[in-house]
Amino acid sequence: TAALTEELVIPPVQVNYTQLLINGKFVDSASGKTFPTFDPRTGEVIAHVAEGDAEDINRAVSAARKAFDEGPWPKMTAYERSRIMLRFADLVEKHSDELAALETWDNGKPYEQASQAELPMLARLFRYYAGWADKIHGLTVPADGPYHVQTLHEPIGVAGQIIPWNFPLLMFAWKVGPALACGNTIVLKTAEQTPLTALYVANLFHEAGLPPGVLNIISGFGPTAGAALASHMDVDKLAFTGSTETGKIVLGLAAKSNLKPVTLELGGKSPFIVCEDADIDKAVELAHFALFFNQGQCCCAGSRTYVHECVYDEFIEKSKARAMKRIVGDPFKKGVEQGPQIDTEQFEKVLRYIRSGIESNATLECGGGRLGSKGFFIQPTVFSNVQDDMLIAKDEIFGPVQSILKFKDLDEVIKRANTTRYGLAAGVFTKNVDTANTLSRALKAGTVWVNCFDVFDAAIPFGGYKMSGIGREKGIYSLHNYLQVKAVVTPLKKAAW
Ligand code: ADP
Repeated sequence: TAALTEELVIPPVQVNYTQLLINGKFVDSASGKTFPTFDPRTGEVIAHVAEGDAEDINRAVSAARKAFDEGPWPKMTAYERSRIMLRFADLVEKHSDELAALETWDNGKPYEQASQAELPMLARLFRYYAGWADKIHGLTVPADGPYHVQTLHEPIGVAGQIIPWNFPLLMFAWKVGPALACGNTIVLKTAEQTPLTALYVANLFHEAGLPPGVLNIISGFGPTAGAALASHMDVDKLAFTGSTETGKIVLGLAAKSNLKPVTLELGGKSPFIVCEDADIDKAVELAHFALFFNQGQCCCAGSRTYVHECVYDEFIEKSKARAMKRIVGDPFKKGVEQGPQIDTEQFEKVLRYIRSGIESNATLECGGGRLGSKGFFIQPTVFSNVQDDMLIAKDEIFGPVQSILKFKDLDEVIKRANTTRYGLAAGVFTKNVDTANTLSRALKAGTVWVNCFDVFDAAIPFGGYKMSGIGREKGIYSLHNYLQVKAVVTPLKKAAW
């Protein structure tokens, strides 16, 4: 275990769990291998964690299978399952400071963001799903003819879940919450960049009374552990969040193995549209937030800022000023808005996109390089005069790089905003309700935020059109991902009521 350097400890945090969690026990990987997880502030090793591979996935899937087929989980009353989830949410609150610190340490996100927004949301999500557990039931169906017809809504079985590194705890909640509420058992593979907090909270789940084998956590890499999970013959459902590229791979693996149903939450290139009637100061602030939040590492980031020509010049000046004021630094320090990028690979990738923006003759308004000499910090960067066909306007950058584009009228901006292979989210900023309605209905995206952005609530569904994904998470919609529907048909003696 390691500890943070003294002046940064908010609060003291240690790494207590580094092994795989299989069948309710922390165990080493079958191979005995480990891999390092890094502090993005410095690039230094935080801890070495057990590296799961195909054999560990096998062990975890058998534990989950047993817990589903024989174990108490799907056979417990829904009320009992709900109580465990509620107790877990209480424990999350109790350990919220350590968890937020661990999340910041492993991921680099501002501690204040983790502790004030993400930890409360983690507890909220589990309470939301705990509320669903005992409200899931089928229908009585009126069929033609003398039949009594019911549907049973059953858990699917063993759910395989693969999550990314940008919101380790929230992605854990989006996946685990609905799966448990519906009575499934789980094998979850965390992202190799951020294995620590899932192990911590999974341990809390067992403290809350979760039976062994219901929730198994495997740390490890994508092409090994992740691929083994996606192609496992005894996994009944797969949920994945990550890049579109990897989404295609896991969908293929699921199809080639046992045709398990797959939900995907993938990349985005979300437009944020500032209309001519917008309050410019507010629009600048919101567009800034929409892009720079979480170091720009959001699949739904408003990464194409479309601004009406009438307000374009003023918008550029103010956006540049806002980005230059952005406080970048050690994410444990008070008031810091932006920490480091997650790792050297992402850091280099973002810098390559910045160079591409400069080479394609977009105007670099501010930023454009790394900040400091250690860790993965990048200056808040703003490009203006961005054209739709530039790489920075088409690809997901996943970093603190805002691209601002000019438009003339609504029909034009609708067409341009929709000319993308992605369709995760969109932002609309206007005072005119007709404009808001027109844009909301015309934009091909799973979420349209009008005069707001990044409003995430447990009850609001989230997911993508086009190559941004398949299916919806959160809300009532997420339950469909984890349920089988069985129709039960019985002849009636008399065709009467
Ligand atoms: P990023 O490029 O942002 O790291 P990825 O889509 O590669 O996004 O990663 C998201 C998750 O998918 C991680 O948990 C990663 O380990 C996993 N992953 C990566 N490659 C594969 C693969 N070939 N099969 C299964 N999972 C994978």
